[in-house]
Amino acid sequence: MRHQNGVFEYNMPKKDPIPKDLFDILACPICRSDLRYRKDKKDLVCIKEGHKYPIKQGIPILLPEEGKKK
Ligand SMILES: [Zn+2]
Repeated sequence: MRHQNGVFEYNMPKKDPIPKDLFDILACPICRSDLRYRKDKKDLVCIKEGHKYPIKQGIPILLPEEGKKK
């Protein structure tokens, strides 16, 4: 796994889209709160302020520009 410009890359398992060890280190780049995975929308939402981050081809796009989109 490498971390570059806020974008994480990893292989997505079939059952658990976000591995737990990865999930533990994920945080909202805007407010630094924890992120929650939404199965129905297949995106990540921060629990504090509701910033939303898409997951594209198994890669969470954790960029402040994405979280600020309405
Ligand atoms: Zn946030």
